Amino acid sequence: MAAAISAAREGACVTIYERNDRLGKKILATGNGKCNLGNLSLSIEDYHSDNPSLAARCLERFGTRETEAFFHSLGLMIKEKNGYLYPKSEQASSVLDVLRMAVERYGVRVVYEAKVNSLKRKKDGGFELGWEMEASDSKSPGQREIFDHVILACGSKAAPKTGSDGSGYQLAKQMGLTVTEVVPALVQLHCREDYCKSIAGVRAEAKIHIRDGRQCVVSEQGELQLTEYGISGIPVFQLSGQVNQLLKEQKGKDLIAEIDFLPEFSKDEWNQFVEERMGEIPRRNCETAESFFTGMLHKKLMLLFMKLAGLKTNTLVKDAGKEQLLTVFRLCREFTLHITGSHSYDHAQICAGGVSMKEVSASLEALKVPGLYLAGELLHVDGRCGGYNLQWAWTSGCLAGRAAAGKDKKK
Ligand SMILES: Cc1cc2nc3c(=O)[nH]c(=O)nc-3n(C[C@H](O)[C@H](O)[C@H](O)COP(=O)(O)OP(=O)(O)OC[C@H]3O[C@@H](n4cnc5c(N)ncnc54)[C@H](O)[C@@H]3O)c2cc1C
Repeated sequence: MAAAISAAREGACVTIYERNDRLGKKILATGNGKCNLGNLSLSIEDYHSDNPSLAARCLERFGTRETEAFFHSLGLMIKEKNGYLYPKSEQASSVLDVLRMAVERYGVRVVYEAKVNSLKRKKDGGFELGWEMEASDSKSPGQREIFDHVILACGSKAAPKTGSDGSGYQLAKQMGLTVTEVVPALVQLHCREDYCKSIAGVRAEAKIHIRDGRQCVVSEQGELQLTEYGISGIPVFQLSGQVNQLLKEQKGKDLIAEIDFLPEFSKDEWNQFVEERMGEIPRRNCETAESFFTGMLHKKLMLLFMKLAGLKTNTLVKDAGKEQLLTVFRLCREFTLHITGSHSYDHAQICAGGVSMKEVSASLEALKVPGLYLAGELLHVDGRCGGYNLQWAWTSGCLAGRAAAGKDKKK
């Protein structure tokens, strides 16, 4: 929609093919129904891409300020909360409504329930687009239409119920473009350990380090949620794309998540704390291990750590082995879980990977296929939670739309 509006504003005659019976279904699900449409803090560090310098150039040309101006021009009031941008109404439907109305106002033709399934370059210039109607009662395969320029903005294959089923990757491949490995991202992670069940429901501020052998490949801090199947929460979402990519590269080998439940302690502060607590044992010799560790972290965590250390909860601390007690303290800072995979695309907010950014220009035109543009999540640019993915959708959509209409071209 951003691409179509931008192209139509430049005077182009635009048609949108949408396989659903309405536009922008995914927008309604964003930001828990409030649509976090951008962020005041925006940099390329908030994204992963196979060509970060090109993605950075696009974000410099069309960043937060341009997004705000674009939406203001459509009549949307925006509010900011801790840097995160939302519609003032706090209703994702407001964002969708202003886009839909602009599509209509600028005379964009929309063909609904039309799934594009082929794209060919014509010898005499332009493109032949093939589609079929999605509704079963009106299935009439083989419809064709010719266009001067095409913008592929089919999304990824995350949350396929909203319409993005990965067919955009096939269309890009038909045009000879490279699609890098696609994996679910901003998604819950699965762990091998059975005892996850015993700590399900615990939420705690923690720092998570993902280790590949001894090397830490990525880390995130925030509110961690422990679940029956593994780990969830914003910090897990943030690193899930990279984790899934590594798991795919390693073909079945697990990764280690090392969890620090007390990241606010420096190493020295922690050593001093443990030393002091261990020094208290002679004075607390009638206490059980359970009461000795009470008050440190969530009870379910401490009970599990004692079990993993081979320490019975009713053992008196004076009778407990020093190593066992130190193991419990160590687990508070270095609790490890084996990551085996993630929830499926159905649960993922986005996909990492996509059409290579090495094969497009700064106007998002395919270098090999002049006249073909790409926008949105279909491209290999994935952002963190916090409005960055919609920002990329507006950035790439508006740049591609303007360029396809001839705005940024010499001729
Ligand atoms: C639950 C959830 C919450 C999210 N929350 C946020 C958030 O708060 N902030 C944020 O920045 N991002 C959020 N995202 C991510 C964000 O919604 C996406 O990155 C963004 O919508 C991508 O835009 P897009 O236009 O590239 O793709 P999409 O929004 O997926 O749109 C693609 C459109 O193309 C249509 N289509 C696909 N293939 C074809 C075809 N072959 N023929 C015809 N039509 C086709 C689809 O039906 C769809 O309407 C969230 C995602 C989910 C799932």
